[in-house]
Amino acid sequence: MSPTVTFADIRLARDLLAAHLPPTPMWSYPALDGVVGAHVLVKHENVQPVGAFKVRGGITLLAGLGAAERARGLVTYSTGNHAQSLAYACREFGASCTVVMPAAANPAKARAVRALGATVVLDGADLAGAHARAEEVAEREGRLLVGPADTPALIAGVGSLYLEVFEARPDLDAVVVPVGSGTGAAAAGIVAAELAPGCRVVGVQSAASPAAHDSWREGTCVTRPDRTAAEGLATGRGFALPQALMRTGLADFHLVSDERIAQARRLLAGHAHTLAEGAGAAALAAVLDRPDEFAGRTVAVICSGGNASPAEIADLAEVAAVG
Ligand SMILES: *Cc1c(COP(=O)(O)O)cnc(C)c1O
Repeated sequence: MSPTVTFADIRLARDLLAAHLPPTPMWSYPALDGVVGAHVLVKHENVQPVGAFKVRGGITLLAGLGAAERARGLVTYSTGNHAQSLAYACREFGASCTVVMPAAANPAKARAVRALGATVVLDGADLAGAHARAEEVAEREGRLLVGPADTPALIAGVGSLYLEVFEARPDLDAVVVPVGSGTGAAAAGIVAAELAPGCRVVGVQSAASPAAHDSWREGTCVTRPDRTAAEGLATGRGFALPQALMRTGLADFHLVSDERIAQARRLLAGHAHTLAEGAGAAALAAVLDRPDEFAGRTVAVICSGGNASPAEIADLAEVAAVG
């Protein structure tokens, strides 16, 4: 039987996480509601250590490994937040961590991963190339290879975020989830089915990187161009496990432009004193994009990460200067 993730797995993950991460806040901002025309609740995953929700998955994975597996060490491949999440979790549990990043990876991200104590290997023209190198490292050094998308423990761990959302607000009309590989949206669907069956779970991806969206619409994993500036949403293909879970779990899936995401980043900065990276603002962008769908509704938007790039931060400063 192929691996899957259940509501019970997600509850267990929350118990494992309790000793490591406090719940994150979820706030509303009346000035933001005024602009958007809906009652918006911002779930603040940008305040996690490493600045993104993925750390929930990394810690759950490490907590579930036996001592022998931790002693073997781990290896993964990533360009961004997944790498930091796994490096952070390995440090918490005293496990050795190697991250393969594409050769042209953002030097600031490589530095952040090294600062967490992981070994960074720069190799491959893209993520597929880094994946191939990670397989070699796993084989040669006996490390556990951790795929960023098709690993059930990662999905169970990020699901703890939706226990927090739906236990606080079982009355939500909708929750909007930014999607890259789809682990977060897959988990949202599982938890909503149990705790808030009346809530619509809506995915959102950038139109410049629509692989997860198109895979969901077509019912099969497809590859697509991958050009968004929002790194958390940047995937060039669909992933089987999250796609299978999203098939039953999502009510709808939208695409937004990178320009709309930038507008949402500015609104979060100006009206919610929140520094979001592009992916972290995508859920709000989807609400802005469809005023008719969300008008007057109570909607949770997942601010999935705060690791804004230097360009994203500079763009906020320009807006402030113009007024
Ligand atoms: C990874 C990531 C996403 C997308 O999550 P998936 O589980 O891959 O769909 C969204 N936002 C941020 C900040 C991320 O790091």
